[in-house]
Amino acid sequence: MEKAVDFGGGGRRVVVIGGGVAGSLIAKKLQFIADVTLIDLKEYFEIPWASLRGMVEPSFAERSLINHKDYLTNGRFVASRAINITNSDVLTAEGRLVAYDYLVIATGHDDRFPKIRNERLAEYQAENEKIKAAHSIMVVGGGPSDVELAAEIAVDFPEKKVTLVHDGPRLLEFIGPKASDKTLHWLKNKNVEVKLQQSIELDRISNENKTYITSSRETIKADCHFLCIGKPLASAWLKETILKDSTDGFGRLKVDDNLRIKGRKNIFAIGDITDIKEIKQGYLAQKHALIAAKNIKILMDGEKESKMATYKPHSIKVIVSLGRQDAVAQFQFTTLIGLVPGFIKSKDLFVGKTRKQMGLDPHIVDY
Ligand SMILES: Cc1cc2nc3c(=O)[nH]c(=O)nc-3n(C[C@H](O)[C@H](O)[C@H](O)COP(=O)(O)OP(=O)(O)OC[C@H]3O[C@@H](n4cnc5c(N)ncnc54)[C@H](O)[C@@H]3O)c2cc1C
Repeated sequence: MEKAVDFGGGGRRVVVIGGGVAGSLIAKKLQFIADVTLIDLKEYFEIPWASLRGMVEPSFAERSLINHKDYLTNGRFVASRAINITNSDVLTAEGRLVAYDYLVIATGHDDRFPKIRNERLAEYQAENEKIKAAHSIMVVGGGPSDVELAAEIAVDFPEKKVTLVHDGPRLLEFIGPKASDKTLHWLKNKNVEVKLQQSIELDRISNENKTYITSSRETIKADCHFLCIGKPLASAWLKETILKDSTDGFGRLKVDDNLRIKGRKNIFAIGDITDIKEIKQGYLAQKHALIAAKNIKILMDGEKESKMATYKPHSIKVIVSLGRQDAVAQFQFTTLIGLVPGFIKSKDLFVGKTRKQMGLDPHIVDY
């Protein structure tokens, strides 16, 4: 193990583990008032909700894969996996110890096969070529990523036969049944064939075998298939750390109203890794980042803890894009589908907005 790297900082050393939606924003916010180190597996952060558009339009991904160095101009970036935490340091997979006064855990979801930015862009290109070469495409799953992908393909490539197979009773089960029904209707109108309560034997599918048999013995012909597998929560590694008793039964970190890990004075957690009782969404992860940044500043400045901001869980607000113009939205009291929610999200998928929030040009990527 290497000697501890102490970057100085006079009680203002903030280490952020995880440079996703939440971690990148808090690192950016604190970089001019604290000594910030961001640790992540990749040299860039990817806007997750833009990923399905990148498959039908690979150049879209250029703006949604943001190098940490572009916004972290006054902090340092360590490209590694954090594997342990003590009361004073973070240990990385390379054996580097990074000392902290304040620690932020923002590990959200684990990227088991991290790719460098160019490899990720090439992956989008390859997926796009796969779509373009196929006459018929099967999407397996009925979650938001699967629905968004089926919709992107149906809108950009209306001549292709798209089939969506889902083993559950309805699409978008994480939101209300009205949204599911409206989405099903929308997809059918776009000639997407939707098969509910049917599964495909995943270990028997391959792109060579162009005929797929569902659990109801139905046959689906498809030149290729896509399986949008969600990334697992990145919490297993915490079991080896001082936070091993701070997780709930799902591996989520238990936080208080100030977004500090319960029982800890100088360790915060933000984003999807927290046990906050609300739907896990990126725009909420960004709100966590802003609250935690404020609270860390208060503590660093020696102000009273009672001045810290509190976070109140938000009620449900979800927009699932359906191609370039439409979307389905579930708000607290209503469900909408079509151009109105589409106007909010579907044209740019909040990419320009997110880039702007990170202090970058919403349109131009200069590499
Ligand atoms: C396809 C898709 C569409 C979505 N659509 C929307 C949407 O429209 N609107 C919305 O608000 N939300 C959306 N979400 C949800 C949103 O993306 C998540 O809520 C958000 O990404 C959570 O942010 P996070 O920072 O907590 O975690 P993540 O964004 O998952 O970031 C975690 C980071 O931690 C890093 N990491 C993990 N473990 C370690 C480790 N041990 N050491 C160092 N680094 C580590 C990872 O590499 C990653 O960069 C969508 C998600 C997906 C997948």
